[in-house]
Amino acid sequence: MPATYLITGGAGFIGSHLAEALLASGERVLVVDDLSTGRLQNIEHLKRFPGFECVVDTVMNRALMAGLVGRADYVLHLAAAVGVRLVVESPVRAIETNVRGTEIVLELANRRKQPVFITSTSEVYGKTSRVPFAEDDDLVLGPTTRGRWSYACSKALDEFLGIAYFHESGLPVVIGRLFNTVGPRQRGRYGMVLPNFVKQALAGSPITVYGDGMQSRCFAYVGDVVPAIVRLIQSEAAYGGVFNIGSDQEISIRELAELVKRRLESPSDIVSIPYEEAYRVGFEDMRRRVPDTRKAFELVGFEARTPLTEIIDRVAEYYRVAV
Ligand code: UDP
Repeated sequence: MPATYLITGGAGFIGSHLAEALLASGERVLVVDDLSTGRLQNIEHLKRFPGFECVVDTVMNRALMAGLVGRADYVLHLAAAVGVRLVVESPVRAIETNVRGTEIVLELANRRKQPVFITSTSEVYGKTSRVPFAEDDDLVLGPTTRGRWSYACSKALDEFLGIAYFHESGLPVVIGRLFNTVGPRQRGRYGMVLPNFVKQALAGSPITVYGDGMQSRCFAYVGDVVPAIVRLIQSEAAYGGVFNIGSDQEISIRELAELVKRRLESPSDIVSIPYEEAYRVGFEDMRRRVPDTRKAFELVGFEARTPLTEIIDRVAEYYRVAV
């Protein structure tokens, strides 16, 4: 018997890949997405699966969500205000979506105790400089006057709430802290670096490195991340736990710009943009961000295997045909 997975934010970048993988393995998928950052083009090709259904609405529509959660065997909660730019530009919406949406999902799933995967983020580690980040490390957030930290704080609250439901009500909740995840369908509009660089390189326009470019990140391919999420929500041993999901291969943003340029044989110049020009005032960037992924590896065999060069090729392939 196929199981039914409700994917909130299922028309988004990661959500659409999850939907695709689940449908391909014979499961049924219900997507709810308000198309704030998700796109119908991301799931167009899934309509041919009889087990696929999509509702365009917000997770804050409680009455609708009661019906959808009621039909689900598993809930993958990805709907959120994502991307640094969106969070800095629309902080009220970002905080409310991230907190209230999760409250509604957890409260409804608690009625029949369906397992819930809560998508959290490496942002919750804040500006701690001790890498790699392990799940039990302290979270070091900046002041509330700096908008960026509201995202981390709202996601940390989601984690607290999920873990509280697990302990208080026995709701099977698993939390995944996603580090920089990349691949086709990720859009650059909300500040994500790799799609921006690839688009710039393909267009021959300047590749914009913010700040000194010595800040670093680790990029995991969405195709490696998705099976880990599916295995985590199905693993009883994961419930009540927090898991880092990401690559541990660190690269500076300047090196990334150079790699994209080289790989795509682009004539683009690499230019430095001061942070004040790139973001609004109140922004603080993270210097390094490296996950310790042993926990997810030991429980569900998670490994970010796909090399960055291959990821760049696939993202470029997407942008060559995407509109
Ligand atoms: N970045 C950049 N150029 C861009 C977009 C982003 O140099 O066009 C930098 C950004 O300042 C950050 C890094 O790339 O240091 C990763 O940014 P992204 O928004 O992708 O992810 P996050 O900051 O959440 O890790």
